[in-house]
Parts: sequence; structure tokens; C-alpha cells
Amino acid sequence: MFPRVILKGTMIKKSQQKRRTSPCNYKERFFVLDTQDLKYSEPRPGRRPMVKGCIKLYTIKCAEIVCSDVPIPCNYKYPFQVFHGDHYLYIFAPDNDCRQRWVRALKEETKNNNLVPKYHPNFWMDGKWKCCLQTEKLAAGCHVYNPVGSASKKPLPLLPDPEMELRDEVQRTVIALQDYTPLGDDDLPLQKDQEYMLINSSHSEWWAVEDDQGHTGFVPCTYVAVKSGKNFERFEWYNKNITRGGAEDLLMKEGKEGAFMVRDSRQAGVYTVSVFTKAPGSNGEKNPRVKHYQIRQAETGEAAFYLAEKYLFSTIPELIHYHQHNAAGLITRLRHPVSQDGGSSQDICDPFKDQWEVDPEELTLGQELGSGQFGLVLEGRWKEKKVAVKMIREECMSDEEFKEEARVMMRVAHCKLVQLYGVCTQRSPMCLVFEFMEKGCLSEYLRAKKGRLSQDTLLGMCLDVSEGMAYLESSNFIHRDLAARNCLVSKNNEVKVSDFGMTRFVLDDQYTSSQCSKFPVKWSAPEVIKYCKFSSKSDVWSFGVLMWEVFTEGRLPYENRTNSEVVESLNSGLRLLKPRLAPDAVHLLMEWCWKEKPEDRPSFALLLHELASLSNL
Ligand code: ADP
Repeated sequence: MFPRVILKGTMIKKSQQKRRTSPCNYKERFFVLDTQDLKYSEPRPGRRPMVKGCIKLYTIKCAEIVCSDVPIPCNYKYPFQVFHGDHYLYIFAPDNDCRQRWVRALKEETKNNNLVPKYHPNFWMDGKWKCCLQTEKLAAGCHVYNPVGSASKKPLPLLPDPEMELRDEVQRTVIALQDYTPLGDDDLPLQKDQEYMLINSSHSEWWAVEDDQGHTGFVPCTYVAVKSGKNFERFEWYNKNITRGGAEDLLMKEGKEGAFMVRDSRQAGVYTVSVFTKAPGSNGEKNPRVKHYQIRQAETGEAAFYLAEKYLFSTIPELIHYHQHNAAGLITRLRHPVSQDGGSSQDICDPFKDQWEVDPEELTLGQELGSGQFGLVLEGRWKEKKVAVKMIREECMSDEEFKEEARVMMRVAHCKLVQLYGVCTQRSPMCLVFEFMEKGCLSEYLRAKKGRLSQDTLLGMCLDVSEGMAYLESSNFIHRDLAARNCLVSKNNEVKVSDFGMTRFVLDDQYTSSQCSKFPVKWSAPEVIKYCKFSSKSDVWSFGVLMWEVFTEGRLPYENRTNSEVVESLNSGLRLLKPRLAPDAVHLLMEWCWKEKPEDRPSFALLLHELASLSNL
């Protein structure tokens, strides 16, 4: 069947700079989009145009406009992007309508592809993303990608909301975080740093605002930040008019690990996160206690908030959302929002409440598969499926916290992650129901198959793990205990990552403190050993060790050395040696994962890309 032409026209293309040294230029090209490819050719007066490039539509992972205030050096000023394979193509359309047409058509043709969950709204330029300042070109995106097309999702014009009229002026002011060029007639352009009145914020993506000339229209809510803290009122975690002492009393009364609130700091315009913890302090601090962290603003010239570590967010709600899932430098994750007028609001309205609960009647248990740090693992059947059931030994896991987190873990779904189907809390001991992995844990599988696995198979295993981990990384989820023993092998020899995030629920100090015997020091990055500073980049270090385990066919790293000897040799710059079966290129990747500074290590997105290109050789 011949492809059907959908769109054609002349636009300007920026060179894709597939290599670091490729030149940066802008060239006029004649583009043709059909049902199979996006082709571009060089117009040659008097002769047939010469095809210069062809992108297969199935390789496209994102097509979206580019929002940027950088001066555009070519005549056409309306940029959009096509992320395909591992390359970004920037195309400049002559006007906004033309750009809209192309983006909509591309989205339509690629909507069933394997799309990115998040994309970069701004350019990759001078070695960094202008939107999130990440310095790796293949770093996961920072804004949710809408494959249907932003314009079509927009709500219909809203009727005046009588309640809004009653609120005060300050409450309705927002500041533009960046310029916004309207996508349609009912949008309002935004100018960076200008103030606008917020008319309606009830839609989750598009807010209605008014400029100082009285023009109203829609803008993407991620492009503006509320000026006053008063607008946090809609969040259950925000408490205004509470003192530091008042916050401490309320949180101590709540008494749950990770109970938290955001409150106004004494310094005007600044906010503080107060969080309750039972974790032992390092300098004899009293226990339990409430810790206070000021929300800081980075000097990037743009709104960029951070808490304990420099993970930047353009709004405070985004920052809180991230720390609800990752401690990332805080004493504990922000687990239970507490408000002055209702205590913990965790249990009030939970739309997911019953979706993760496994009915004990539907679960049958079979023979033992193994045992781990939480207890026995049994084979089982649930809803016609073979499953693995982890019986949680009492006193082994902080189950209140786990129940809450299980909901988050269940929504983390990828073909290279062992899926958690649900939790059975009505039975004692509580148990977790997982996807069944016929061939058991990777480290034992490697040892059992020693001498019989080809280099390609070993590389494929690393590729599987990097794929699962790239997904976790893009979901801001940190594994914390990546190792071959925590990966499982399926019936058809696929490797999947398991036990992600589980160490947070272990109550055994021997396991959770880096000084103690069960702590996986030999898989841990230096910053984890020294300060328990977990991040996706500390997972990358562990991944390097996992690759080493794979290519040594399941040997134990630093076999004859104690944990403290390992720490000492790491400090003096020594690293694990190249396994005999590892190609040089794979060994280089391992060494890259073991860079001292987390920021010098590659991301999983990049590792996935590198491993994929090696496995094609
Ligand atoms: P824990 O997380 O409690 O330490 P593990 O995940 O290490 O437990 O599981 C112990 C053993 O149980 C594994 O080595 C493996 O043999 C078996 N097992 C665990 N999960 C599964 C699963 N999803 N499918 C099949 N076997 C499993």
C-alpha cells in the first residue's frame, strides 16, 4: 500500500547535531509528512528536490511546539520539535497556524507509538536544556507530554464563578514563569515576569487569566506561578497563620513518621516545610522530633524552588509532590499532610482505596519459592494468574507506611519492572502479590547458567535492566537497592527489576544504616555510604556493579574484602576490575557509572541508549 500524503510545505530545519562536533546551521527544506515518514528535501530550482532526510514515523516519541524566549536566528520564528530515536529535530514554521497544523498532524500519526511521558518544552542549547537546566541531551523530560495535542484538551470557556468574586486580590495574582505564545484564539500571550489576575484555576492544565489591559484567555498552568502563598490554601498540606511551635505541637500530636505541613516562614514570602520523624538524629537530637526545612529559591533567574538538595522545581506544589515520593535529602519522605483543621487528611478521601486491596478469598497459596528480608515468598494463584506472594513477617516492615506507598508502587508499571498487583492487608501476616517470574532471581540464574550464556545474552540482560531503570528515573522513583539479587528472570529469559523502593520500609537497622553489616555497601555509591544521599545517580552506580555481576556470571563483587576495606579502596580511587567476558565498551560504561561525583555519571536514559547501540553491533 502506498503511503498517503498528509501535509507538505517549506520550513526551516536546524541541523540535528547528532555528534557533539556537528555544525549548527539552519536550512530551508521542503517537508512532506505521509502515513509512513516525515521526509525533507533540498529545493533545487529547475531540478527535482534532493531528499536529505527521512524519519520513520514509528521512531517518533514526541512532537510538540517549542516554547522559548531565545532569539531565533532564522526567518521563520515558530519552532516545533520532533523527538525521534535518540535525536531532536527542530523545525521552524513561518507562522503559528502552520506550526499548529504540523504538530497536530504529527501527533495524530504517532499517537500509538511508544511516546515519552514527559518532554522538554524549551530548546537543547549550549550543552543544556533551557527548561530544566539538565546537562544531558537524553535526560528525561520535565513537562508532561500530551499526545493528543494541548489545544484540543482545553476546556470550554468558563462561566463566571461567583465564589471567585469573593476572594481577595492577592489570592488571584500569578506571575508568568516564561513567555507563552498562544496556541489558539482563546489563549492569552504571557510575558515572563509579568503579573496576571487568575480568573479560574479549576482545570488541571489550563487556567484562565487576565492581563493588565483587561484581556482574558487561557494559559498552561505550568507557565505561571501563584504569587501569594495564600493560593496554597487548596492544598491540604498548607497551613497559614501557624507558628513554628504550633506546627511542632500539631505534628507531634499526629505522631506519624513523615507527617508534614508547609507553613509561612517568619521571613515574609518564604515558606517552611515542617516534618515529624522518629529517625535517630546524628547529634543527639531528641527523638521523635520535628525538623524544619526552608524552601529555597535557586539563583537561576527563573522560579526554581528546592528543599534539601538541588532538585529544582518551578512551583512549590511540584516540589512537595516530588518529596512526597522521595526523601532526597530530607530526614524522611513527606508522607502524611497535616492540616490545622483536620489532622491528617490522608484517610479522608482516597479514590484508590480499594483498587490495590487483594481479597484473601481470591488468593490461594502454594509452595515456597524462597525467602528474603521480609519473610517467605510463596507461589500462589490470583484471578487465574500464577503469582508470587511475599508474606511480610510482622515487625519486619513498617506496614502503615507501606500500605500507603503500595498504591504509588502499583502505578509504576513497565514491562521491565516486576509488577506489584496488590496488597492483602486483611490477612495476617500482610502479604504482597507480585507478577510471577518463573526463573527466579538473576544472581542465581547467572551462577546456574555459568559458561552457557553468550556475550549478547549478557548484554541483553543489562539492556533490560537499564530499560526498567530509565522508566523509574523518568518517574522520579529511586530504587535504592539495585543489584542482581533484586532482579528476576521471566519464563522467556527477560530480566525485570524488582523490589524498587522497598528498603524504605525495612525496620532492621542492620540493613538501613550504612555502618551496619547488612547494608549493601558493595553496591552503594560513595554519597550513599557517607550521607545516605540516594538519587537516580546513586542507582546508576549500583547499576554499574550489576553490569559487573552479569559479566562475571554472578560473582560477588569484592569477594574477599570486608565492607570497610571496600570503602577504603573506593576512597583511594580503586574500582572493580574488568570482567573477562565484558567487551571494552561495556567496561567503559561501568567505569562511567562509578564516577565519584553523581553529576559525572550518565543517566539511565543515556545508558539505555549506549547499551542499545552496542547490542545492535
Ligand atoms: P525480599 O524482598 O523479602 O528480600 P526477595 O525478593 O529476595 O525477597 O525474594 C526471595 C526469593 O523469592 C527470590 O530469590 C526468588 O527466588 C523468589 N521470588 C521473589 N519474588 C518472586 C517473583 N515475583 N516470582 C518468582 N519468584 C520470586
